[in-house]
Amino acid sequence: MTVTVDALKELVDRAEGLYRDVKMESVRSWKEANPGRKAVGCMPVWFPKEVIHAAGMLPVGVFGGGDDVEIIKGDAYFQSYICHIPRSTIEMCLGGNMDCIDGMIFPSICDVIRNLSGMWQLLFADRPAWYFDMPQSFDEIGRAFFARELGTLREHIHALAGTEPDDAALAASIELFNENRRLVEALYQQRREKPWLHPTSEVYVVLRAGSLLPVEEHNQMLRDYMQHAAASDRNPIDNARVVVVGSFCEQPPLNLIRTIERAGCYIVDDDLLLGNRLVHGDVVVGDDPLLGIVDSFLGNAGEAAFLYKPEGKGSELLKRIEDAHAEGVLFCAPSFCDPALLDQPMLVKAVEEAGIPHTSFKYAENTGQFQVIREQAGTFADSIKLWGAA
Ligand code: SF4
Repeated sequence: MTVTVDALKELVDRAEGLYRDVKMESVRSWKEANPGRKAVGCMPVWFPKEVIHAAGMLPVGVFGGGDDVEIIKGDAYFQSYICHIPRSTIEMCLGGNMDCIDGMIFPSICDVIRNLSGMWQLLFADRPAWYFDMPQSFDEIGRAFFARELGTLREHIHALAGTEPDDAALAASIELFNENRRLVEALYQQRREKPWLHPTSEVYVVLRAGSLLPVEEHNQMLRDYMQHAAASDRNPIDNARVVVVGSFCEQPPLNLIRTIERAGCYIVDDDLLLGNRLVHGDVVVGDDPLLGIVDSFLGNAGEAAFLYKPEGKGSELLKRIEDAHAEGVLFCAPSFCDPALLDQPMLVKAVEEAGIPHTSFKYAENTGQFQVIREQAGTFADSIKLWGAA
């Protein structure tokens, strides 16, 4: 048992070290170990990283600086009434933290990310930036659009890598990321079943490590974590089971997640780091692996604030609540996050109609005061425990 406890602690410490690796030392080490190969950054929420992997490069998830980067210059580039992630991302760029990133992908999730892509192009004209337009129509027109968009981007990515697109290589990369998606889903299932063995403050850093590590290494980390956590001897306590909603892009500070847990909540489902769970199930590799990615996105992308799927808004959230046997919902979104906050009233309506308790608060990635949130989450958890079944 001691071996498992030590191994678990060592693994979680390593993952938290990667979470705090705002200078991207791990990416630099990878490049030193792989001379000539490049790294491509991806802003949230989703990009099919297998396309970058298949070109022989390292896909890197960029989530801003969290609470480890002091914003000095970054504020000067953006107005005050937007979220925080673009400021810390620019701060990291100006500070040299992201010199190891050779190109950047900016998915079309909101105006802020689009403006950030323009800022990158102005500041770092020597490094390519690609705006990744995801389809908002899920029919044949959307399919043709997305296939063309992704195909063009694939060619740009290979041009940066100095390689040629190769369907066999892409198929092999898809298999590795399919394995990653399966492992992440298995970890979420384990947490749903026994959240006391898999605290979200640990699960989160283990998942977040996948934004910097090569997928092969991350797959092993996920396997090891599940094994060690399942064998640990933590005892269940009488916490309220909650689902966290709204944290899919700018991430809350780790201490906010810990605060929610210490306030008496088991987080049994969430949309943190949504990119690795946005598309459900395996990508089916057929004759054309790129089309396999397109079709899996069109057919299997889940409900998300940045995708226009107006029918049945909230139905997927209700299903997740049911699957997780959750007793309440914490709407927990970044301040000024238009997609999350515009979606929220529709999701609130869905959970209210289902009679599910909820509460809401906002954060910034560098929020440092947690007492108010602790009191709010604690009161919410207590009210569920005292009156939830009434
Ligand atoms: S936090 Fe929200 S508003 Fe800000 S970049 Fe992300 S999706 Fe856009």
